[in-house]
Amino acid sequence: MAQSRIAELDVNNIPFAKIYSDHMFVADYYDGEWQEQRIMPYQALPLSPANTAIHYGISIFEGMKAYKNEEGEVLLFRPERNAERLNISAERMCIPEIPVEMFMNALTELIRLDSQWVPGKGGTSLYIRPIVFATDEYIGIKPPENFRFMIITCPVGAYYSAPVKVKIETNFVRAIEGGVGYAKTAGNYAASLYPAKLAQKEGFDQLVWTDGKTHEYIEESGTMNVMFIIGDKLITAPTSGTILNGITRDSVLTLARDWGVTVEERPIRVDEIVEAARQNKVQEAFGVGTAATIAQISKIGFEEELFELSEVSERKFSNRVLATLNEIKTGKREDKFGWTYKV
Ligand SMILES: *Cc1c(COP(=O)(O)O)cnc(C)c1O
Repeated sequence: MAQSRIAELDVNNIPFAKIYSDHMFVADYYDGEWQEQRIMPYQALPLSPANTAIHYGISIFEGMKAYKNEEGEVLLFRPERNAERLNISAERMCIPEIPVEMFMNALTELIRLDSQWVPGKGGTSLYIRPIVFATDEYIGIKPPENFRFMIITCPVGAYYSAPVKVKIETNFVRAIEGGVGYAKTAGNYAASLYPAKLAQKEGFDQLVWTDGKTHEYIEESGTMNVMFIIGDKLITAPTSGTILNGITRDSVLTLARDWGVTVEERPIRVDEIVEAARQNKVQEAFGVGTAATIAQISKIGFEEELFELSEVSERKFSNRVLATLNEIKTGKREDKFGWTYKV
């Protein structure tokens, strides 16, 4: 690129998801295969008004982060997991598979080229957004034949996540068995905005979704999986057709087991959480996902009740997990599970 825009970036004050790195990766699928892989300057796309992704939401994505270690090398966290999950989403949405090797090569080349966009300051990272969508110019409904796979990146600032006040949602539905809840697909997020907006009017930050059939079981938070510590046990819902299989979730459970913490992956009844909260027995509650790693839950609303949970500073497990994951991701701690990937 003739002129890098890196000078526009103030690493002490990075606006969230507003400034994109110099380059983007693009590959097109037609005639039954992926062709023409290229890296080009970040730019707007020409778009047919008959594009099937905008009409019908035939679009999937991933979210991951790159970090710098103390030597200035760039590390990714479990990127093969994102490649695998992208293909799980792809199958459900009639999108062709992206070979894992193609995904990893694209990612590596792009991040190497734009490595100066990975901010080195503590807490900052480069957010990476792979996306695959249909490019058929056809307003009929059928599985599309043309697709585009892209990767764009943007630096993100130190993510300070203030503890969140969540509402257990028992009216609207995010996902149902047989649907697309397990896929990272565009429409899941579109459908979640209106219920979230209503909850925000009531003073909540986020929703905790319950199962679509009975609303008796806790599912997840829509961009994060949700975990509780009750009676010194770490409890989280099992992944299923309605819950996204988070990579942070898996990493937290792996660390917990390694530390000898009892882990229960099982359906969690809403009344179990409500009862424990009434009796002040919820020791910790938090969301887990790439954006915040750990988002502490300070208050839980359920119907007319609002439960105030323990002080965040007293939460031993989630604070330890947050610190440990941050140290692994930035190469400050031994990576005994082989999670980091040097670009
Ligand atoms: C991305 C996402 C998560 C978190 O997954 P990570 O791999 O940990 O970032 C959880 N729930 C939903 C619905 C998501 O889209």
